[in-house]
Amino acid sequence: MKLPRVDDVLAAPPLAAHHATYKFKKWAVQRHLAALRADRSNTESVTTAAVARCVADTLTEMLQVHPQPRINATGVVLHTNLGRAPLAAEAVAAVVAAAGACDLEIDPRSGQRSSRLQWLRPLLQALFGAEDAHVVNNGAAALLLACAAVASPGGVALARGQMVEIGDGFRVADMAGAAGTTIHAVGSTNRTHLADYEAALDAGATAILWVHLSNFVQLGFVHQPGLRELKVVAARRGVPLIADLGSGAVEGMATDEPTIQAYLAAGADLVTCSGDKLLGGPQAGFLAGRADLVAHCRRHPLARALRPDKLAIAGMHATASLYLQGEQTKLPVHALVSATPQALQARAEALVDALGWSHACIHTTEACIGGGAAPGTGLESRAIAVPTTEPHAVAQALRCGNPSVIARIHAGAVLLDLRSVPCESDAAIVAALQQGSVVDRLTAAGPRS
Ligand SMILES: *Cc1c(COP(=O)(O)O)cnc(C)c1O
Repeated sequence: MKLPRVDDVLAAPPLAAHHATYKFKKWAVQRHLAALRADRSNTESVTTAAVARCVADTLTEMLQVHPQPRINATGVVLHTNLGRAPLAAEAVAAVVAAAGACDLEIDPRSGQRSSRLQWLRPLLQALFGAEDAHVVNNGAAALLLACAAVASPGGVALARGQMVEIGDGFRVADMAGAAGTTIHAVGSTNRTHLADYEAALDAGATAILWVHLSNFVQLGFVHQPGLRELKVVAARRGVPLIADLGSGAVEGMATDEPTIQAYLAAGADLVTCSGDKLLGGPQAGFLAGRADLVAHCRRHPLARALRPDKLAIAGMHATASLYLQGEQTKLPVHALVSATPQALQARAEALVDALGWSHACIHTTEACIGGGAAPGTGLESRAIAVPTTEPHAVAQALRCGNPSVIARIHAGAVLLDLRSVPCESDAAIVAALQQGSVVDRLTAAGPRS
C-alpha cells in the first residue's frame, strides 16, 4: 500500500482552504495516515485527494458544537447516554446568566468572600427538609465523600444484596471504597439480617451504608431489614446510617420511588443522591441530613476535589426554586413522567395524521424512567411505529438527520416512543420522519407488510 505525503495532503484544496489551524490539520493528517498504515487489511493505495477530503470532513465534524441536541424517542425518560434530565427553561437561563462573571463566592453586600453554596444551600435544606445539605459534582461523588468523611476509621457495613452495579461497569461498593473506606460485606446475596450488621459493627465497621436497589428488583426467598430497623441498630451503636438513594426523588413526584424526605424520616443520618435523575436538574450530587455529618463532608479535603462548578450550581438553584414555588410541573422530567396514556395517544394520533403515511401506526409500549429509578415498573406509553425491512438503517438515518431522533427497534419496527419526548418536539418528530434521508431509506427498504 502506498500512502501520500503529509505535505501533499495538506496542500490539496479541501485542506488548504479549511478553517482549522495548520497545526491541527497536520495533526489530523498524520493521525489519519497512521491509521491507514496500521490497517493491515488495507492493501490498496489511496490518493492524496481522497485522504484530504476525508480529513477535511473529519475536521469539520470535530469543530462543530458538541454534544448536539437530539430528540430522545427511546422511551427511557432519564437516559444517561442522552444527558439524563432535560433542564427547565428557567434552569437553562440561569446557566447562561452564570456563564460570565457572577457572584459565585462573593457576598455582594459586604464584598467579602463567601461560599459558593451560599444561595443554594438554604433552598436544599428547605426542599429536602434536612438540617443541612452539601453539593458535589455527581451522585457517585456524594457517596464517595459521605463514606470518606463519616465512615472512618472502621468503614461501612454494606449488604451483599445491595452491592449494585450502575452503568458502564461501575459498582457502588467500589465507589464507596474508592477513598480507602473499608467495605464490610454483610449477609448473603438474597438474605441479610440485623445480626449480620451487628457482627460487622463488632468486627470494626463504624457506619452502615444502605444502597437503594435503583436498577433491579429481588424476588423470592429474600430478606433485607428496612431503614427504620437499621436506624435502631445504628443509634444503639452510635454509628451513622448513610443511605444512597440514587434517583433524588422528592415529595410530590408522580412515581413510587422513595424520596429524600422519606429516607430522612425513616432515620437515615445522611442521604446521598443525584441531581440529574428524578430531581430534574443538572449533573450534581447531594448529601443531605444531620448538620454535624454534613459539616464533616463539607470540610473533608475531597470536598474541594469534588466541588460543583458555577453552571451546575446555577442550574440547580433554578431547579430548586421551581420546587419551592410549587412549579415543579415546569420541570421537563415531571411533564414526561406524569403524562397520561390518553395524552400520549392523542399526540401519537396527531403525529400519524400529520405524517399521512399509511404504514405508520401507533403501538402501546412500556416505557421506563431509567437513570436508576423505579426498576421493574414500566410506564404505559405510545410510540409511532415505522415498520420496515431495514430497521437499523432507518434508525441510523433518524439519528444522523436534522432534526435528529434517537429511536428504538422492537420486533422489526422502528419505534418513536413519546414518553420521553417533550410535546414541544412533536413537530420536529414529523420533520425528522419526513426528511429526505429517512424517506429514501424507507423507500429503498420498503415498508414491511
Ligand atoms: C445513579 C446512582 C448513583 C450514581 O449517581 P451519578 O449521579 O450517576 O454519579 C449512585 N448510586 C445509585 C443507587 C444510583 O442509582
